[in-house]
Amino acid sequence: MQDWLVARAQASPDKIAIIEQVTPTRQHEITFAQLNRRVEDYCQQLLLAGVETGQHVAMLMMNSTLAIVPFFSAMRLGLVFVPLNTRLTVDEIDFQLTQSDCDWLLPYGTTDLLGALRDKGHSILALPQKKKKKVTFSPQEINLETPFFIVHTSGTSGRPKGAVLTYGNVFYSAMASAYRIGHLPNDRWMCVLPLYHVGGLSILIRAVLYGITVDLRERFDVDTINHALTHEPITLISLVPTMLYRLLEYRSEKWNDSLRLVLLGGAATTPELMQSCIDQNIPVATTYGLSEAASQVATTFPNDAIRKAGTVGKALMFSQVKVVNEDGQTQPANQYGEILVKGLTVMQGYYNNPSATAKMLKEGWLHTGDIGYLDDEGDLWLVQRRSDLIVTGGENVYPAEVEAVLRQHHVIKEVAVVGIPDAEWGQKVATAIVLHEGQSITAEEIESYTRQQLAGYKIPRVIRFVDALPLTGSGKIQRSAVRDLFGES
Ligand code: AMP
Repeated sequence: MQDWLVARAQASPDKIAIIEQVTPTRQHEITFAQLNRRVEDYCQQLLLAGVETGQHVAMLMMNSTLAIVPFFSAMRLGLVFVPLNTRLTVDEIDFQLTQSDCDWLLPYGTTDLLGALRDKGHSILALPQKKKKKVTFSPQEINLETPFFIVHTSGTSGRPKGAVLTYGNVFYSAMASAYRIGHLPNDRWMCVLPLYHVGGLSILIRAVLYGITVDLRERFDVDTINHALTHEPITLISLVPTMLYRLLEYRSEKWNDSLRLVLLGGAATTPELMQSCIDQNIPVATTYGLSEAASQVATTFPNDAIRKAGTVGKALMFSQVKVVNEDGQTQPANQYGEILVKGLTVMQGYYNNPSATAKMLKEGWLHTGDIGYLDDEGDLWLVQRRSDLIVTGGENVYPAEVEAVLRQHHVIKEVAVVGIPDAEWGQKVATAIVLHEGQSITAEEIESYTRQQLAGYKIPRVIRFVDALPLTGSGKIQRSAVRDLFGES
């Protein structure tokens, strides 16, 4: 298969590929032909600096064309790209570079950070300042079986692992997404998700395959994004629920008529948020996916997200979903179990980690660790991550259920429920709560409020009031960090 960007630049050279907000008032646009030329030039620099086909090249992946060019250069030269979260500490980056056997780290980041990583033995690539000579090279042929990039899972639980995604994984993911949500020539997909996560990267890849424009945002700034959603002809936006919640909190203007879909996923959506979407007529499709399956696995058709608020819809083309019990038996409709996924988007495995791969991938089925059920119509419903399940005195408590009750209390703005170790009960239910501004409530009042609605074993025994919940880089609640809030209690 021909390099996708070369093919796109030939097919639609003058089409805008990326719109980037360089300052609050100034945008910069780049066409597919221009992006392709920049990739060609960058490949020259990489080759002159000593990079060789097949090597692993990492980069602190900011949301900028500066990062997009190296990403597509990796495709052109047959490198394995390792996008790194820009918010990581030196030790975390060190861990990921070592774990994914990186030959090079591209030279973006502060001098201190790069210096500290060099001291730890990592090779920071020195790009030549000026092109002294030209090297001749031909774009690598794309083989769908070949690894394209290694993406570290977001680590809402445990230490991140590097999921190896092939060209085939992301190709079929892009096709399956278009078959579900449609693809229009004038689509403009706003990307506010980080490019070190499959959620963001898949938008880029789709833009090149489909020939559509990406409106790329460096960071999630509520005001500028809300402004763009009123004044720019954006047709699609991918958001995690926390982001949509924050946008709606500050939104007063009308949505631009161009907006045809908000793709909402990455974490559970609350009934309140879905109700706001219904009330405000927001075209929303809920979606479930994971890094190990190159992003979307199941997605609702827009009307279904409203008709059956809470479901994440049916499996996409090329993906099969089943729900199994603890013995691996397929559960009948409406029965909880672990969600398993099989298909062309499922990763090859975790890089250099056969034991984690063997736990996660059995006979082609990806064991997601998520708990849910398929209803009579084949729509998938998510209940909880298995690792987030709280077992207290032998009883199962689904944090989502307790969170839903707490969220209904008018003083509570955000909430996360976790299990913390307890000598007597194994685990006990704990909750971190963010209150609406100017509101107050005591722990005793919360306890008596939940007692009216939940069985005794589900009631939070430890309550912490916090200013904000810890979030992962992609905006999901970081449950391991919430657990840390409770220290030794
Ligand atoms: P990541 O690999 O970082 O994208 O995280 C994937 C995990 O996010 C999944 O295994 C789920 O636990 C969670 N997730 C993704 N989409 C949803 C959704 N729509 N509802 C609930 N959880 C979700």
